[in-house]
Amino acid sequence: MRDGTCPKCNEVRPLTKHHVLPKTHYGHTREIEYICRACHDELEYYIVSVEGRNRRGRRIKLCREVYRLLWSQFLTL
Ligand SMILES: [Zn+2]
Repeated sequence: MRDGTCPKCNEVRPLTKHHVLPKTHYGHTREIEYICRACHDELEYYIVSVEGRNRRGRRIKLCREVYRLLWSQFLTL
């Protein structure tokens, strides 16, 4: 973790790595953004709620472009 300005809350805080394409669906990609822990938790909750779950309770995989849009949209919420 490194300190920086969180692009969501604009506070200087330790920043965590956010994989724009979820690791659970796409593995480790190089599409990484930095965001503070509190905003990261909020973002993950947001992403999971948009995805929804299948009958087995598994997160539904969306296409890459949706995750990129969710990232940029989250910053404006
Ligand atoms: Zn933040």
